[in-house]
Order: sequence, then structure tokens, then C-alpha cells
Amino acid sequence: MRSIEHWIGGTSVAGSEYATVYQPATGQPQARVALGGQPEVDRAVAAAATAFESWSEMSLSRRTKVLFRLRDLVERHEDDLARLVTAEHGKTVEDARGEVIRGREVIEFACGIPQLLKGAYSDQVSTGVDSYSLRAPLGVCAGITPFNFPVMVPMWMHPIAIACGNAFVLKPSERDPSAANLVAQLYADAGLPDGVFNVVHGGKAAVDALLDHPGVAAVSFVGSTPIASYVHQRAASTGKRVQALGGAKNHAVVLPDADLADAARQITSAAYGSAGQRCMAISAVVAVGPVGNQLVELLTQEASTIVVGPGDQPTSQMGPVVTGEARTRVIDSVDEAQKAGATLVVDGRELRVDGHDEGYFVGPCLLDRVTPEMAAYQQEIFGPVLVVLRADTLDEAVGIINANPYGNGTALFTSGGAAARRFVRGVNVGMIGVNVPLPVPMAYHSFGGWKASLFGDTHIHGPEGVSFYTRGKVVTSRWPGGTETFRSDFHFPTAS
Ligand code: NAD
Repeated sequence: MRSIEHWIGGTSVAGSEYATVYQPATGQPQARVALGGQPEVDRAVAAAATAFESWSEMSLSRRTKVLFRLRDLVERHEDDLARLVTAEHGKTVEDARGEVIRGREVIEFACGIPQLLKGAYSDQVSTGVDSYSLRAPLGVCAGITPFNFPVMVPMWMHPIAIACGNAFVLKPSERDPSAANLVAQLYADAGLPDGVFNVVHGGKAAVDALLDHPGVAAVSFVGSTPIASYVHQRAASTGKRVQALGGAKNHAVVLPDADLADAARQITSAAYGSAGQRCMAISAVVAVGPVGNQLVELLTQEASTIVVGPGDQPTSQMGPVVTGEARTRVIDSVDEAQKAGATLVVDGRELRVDGHDEGYFVGPCLLDRVTPEMAAYQQEIFGPVLVVLRADTLDEAVGIINANPYGNGTALFTSGGAAARRFVRGVNVGMIGVNVPLPVPMAYHSFGGWKASLFGDTHIHGPEGVSFYTRGKVVTSRWPGGTETFRSDFHFPTAS
């Protein structure tokens, strides 16, 4: 069986233990991945610390040359990366290509690092004295990432960290680890010095070793809320800078003045694309006023026509979920919702895909008449399940969203600007769409939720990413020998 090894200091390092990597479309083992722990993390952090010394001294133009080359290589290998993702995650190749492109856009943003790191200069802040500010890299930064975007989410982190002059250790998801190794190879081909980008595979042991390591200056985490909270607390307790992005329950609110057919199409693609395994997936609809029945009818029509199949078949619109456990979790949540009184309008629980009996397939499920007390609403199901709630007014819908513990993304469907403005100002959510179901910010803005969807102060990539991976210095300087003479004063310095 193919082995996926660690990548440390510019070379492949064999594991001492391994876990199996399955193919979700067939349910069959396809590779084994090394499981690292303290020794591998120690080795990777040491390699990164050594590489940091020279990489952080490298001129901006030499750093950006590497990033421009990486950008081209990622574009050239778009299909290879996408197919690795499809084989291990299960999403369709088209969908996987989309994540590679969105990841590449972060590299493109990082290519502008000379502009982004430009400090500020104030001439003559006092007589004969100038002042300027600059951003310095942190050292060794770590990234711990989830299974659902094995290319894009790590690329939210490492291109910016590395462009800022840091070295990086990535701990990708053990469920779909191969893409990280191809990215490491592309960095090497782009001319990145050995040790600046490292990959340690594994699970909790590798994560804990990174969180506790005194040589790691900053941790970026993306994953589920309980682990995000844990990572935030444990890494912060050892003095590290931490950003930990968690789970989500993203609502789409549909007002009576919306184009209902358009809203239903858009909500369906945002709910069931990638089998609902996106942190920005719409998983709850709030139908406002009289639109409920008509909207549910339209959503039913849309969901019933989705073609479910292996991600590498061009006709498939939705692939399997990532594991057998995930499939069971999805089906159990739907069973429970039905028992709690919700109406199951579209039932994908029994779906079978020809020739893929062991695959982790589950079809789209649509639950109507769900209430905020039900587990299907409260929990992040992270599968192809959309729940519909009803509200009398926009304000009631905003109240439902704000009472939810998560605050990642949300969308409003309307033709009215005043309602849209009220919605944007009223919701306690980090990323908002107006007639846009998946408002994933472009690379030059920052991505992040509120409440239980993000622990820490800074959002990821974009300008906040540059702030996260650097710290400020302000220099106040005076050069004796000019016309001014310095008197010895014992009062606190003030400008003169
Ligand atoms: P997960 O939390 O299970 O795993 C994320 C990472 O943490 C993996 O690298 C994993 O190996 C590690 N990990 C798992 N259990 C751990 C433990 N007990 N101790 C230490 N480390 C541990 O998440 P997942 O299932 O891979 O991904 C899906 C989740 O990620 C969903 O909740 C989704 O909403 C969330 N997500 C959020 C965003 C966002 O931007 N907010 C983006 C993508 C995914």
C-alpha cells in the first residue's frame, strides 16, 4: 500500500506508526499515513527554527520570487491536487478544483508581500527625531487543519506566514493527507529553502506536541468547535499567539420579496455541495412570513434532482461523506429530528450508488418544521442535511441567528435594500451574503466567524493574516551631528 510520510527539512521521513486512509467512494483502504508525535514534531520544529534564521533574512524580492513560482506550479498541478482531494475526501473533481483555485488566490495575495509589509515613516516627530514602524516575523508557526479543504485551508495559512519571513509546520488532517505532501514538493520545486515548510502527519499526539512546544511561536487551527476551543486554551497557556476557527450553523433567511426560485437554487447548491461538508455550507433556512410552503416545494424539487455519485465521475454533483462514521452520524441526526417532530420532506438515508455498495454515500435530506430546540438545529451535522425553520418577521429571523452559538456565515435573500441593511447590521456573524449563499471572502479580505466559530482575535488570511504572522516594532531615531543639540532633560520625553 502507498505510504504518505512526513516531510521535514526538505526530505521525506518515515513514520514509526501508521493509520489507514480510505477512499470514501468505495469504502476501501487506499494508502497509509504516518502518525507523528513528540519526536517528529521536535525534529520539524528544529528544522524550521534553523531555516527561519536565513529565510527571515532573505530579501523581499527573493521571497516573492519563490511565491510567484509556487503560484505557477499550483496552477500547473491544479488537476493533480484536485484528484488527490477527490480520492481521499470524496468531493467532486470540479469542487476540488474550486478549492485549489481559492487556495492559489491566497498565494497570489502573498506575492504582494512587499506592499503588505510596508511600514510607516514619520519625519521630524520632534526636532531632529524621526519615527517609523515595521512588522517582523514571529519564528516557527504551526498550522493544524481539517479534512474538508485539504488544499485551501492550509493555503489560508502557510503562504502568508512564509511570505512574512516565518518557517511553517503543517499538521494536516489524517483523513486526506496526500495533498500536503504534493504542496511540499511544489514548494521545493519553487526553490523554497529546506526546512521553511514542513509537514508532520498524525492526530492528537502530533497536535499536542505542537501546542506545547516552546519553539512554536504561533498556532493557526481550523476544525470543529470543541477542538478549536481546546487548541486555543492549550496553546495560549504556553504563551503562543493563537487563532482557532471552529464549526458553524449557517442560516439563509428568505424574505417574501425574494426571487424564490433563484433563492431555492442557490440555497440548494450551498447546502448540498461537497455533501454539506463545508464550514460555510447553508444548513438552516429561515423562511419569513408566507413564503414557507412555496419555498419548501422549490427546495424539494431542487434537492430531488441532485446526482449523487463518485467524485471522479463527471456527472456527479455530490460525492460521499468522508467516513462511515460521518454517514452514520448524518442518518442518526435525521432519524432523531423525525422523532422530535420535524417533517422529512426529502429522504436520502437509503440512497445506494450502483457498484459502490461500500461507499459512504448518503443522499440529500430536507427537514421541514424544525424548531430551535431540536438537536438537528442545535448541532452541526456536517453532512447533506438542510433544516427549515419558520419566522413571522425579519427581526424574529435575526433573533434566531443571534441566539445560535455559532456565528460563521449567513445569507439573506431579498430584493429590498433597507431589509438587507438591517440584516447586515443586526446579525452577530462574521461573513454575510446578500443574495449570495456562500459569502467566502476573497483572499485580500480576511475570513472568520464570531462566537463559537472563532477563538482568538484575528481572522485568517488577507490583511489580518499578515498581522497575525508578524509583530510590530516602532523605532524612534535621532542622529547627533545635525544642527540640533541635545540638552539633558529629566522629564518624560515630549516633542519639541
Ligand atoms: P476536527 O476538529 O475533527 O479536526 C481538525 C484537526 O484537529 C485535524 O487536524 C485533527 O487531526 C485534529 N484533532 C482532532 N481531534 C483532536 C483532538 N482531540 N486533539 C487535538 N487535535 C485533534 O475537524 P474535522 O472533522 O477535520 O473538520 C470538520 C470541522 O471543521 C467542522 O466542524 C467544520 O465546520 C470545521 N471547519 C471550520 C472552518 C472555519 O473556517 N471556521 C473551515 C473548515 C472546517
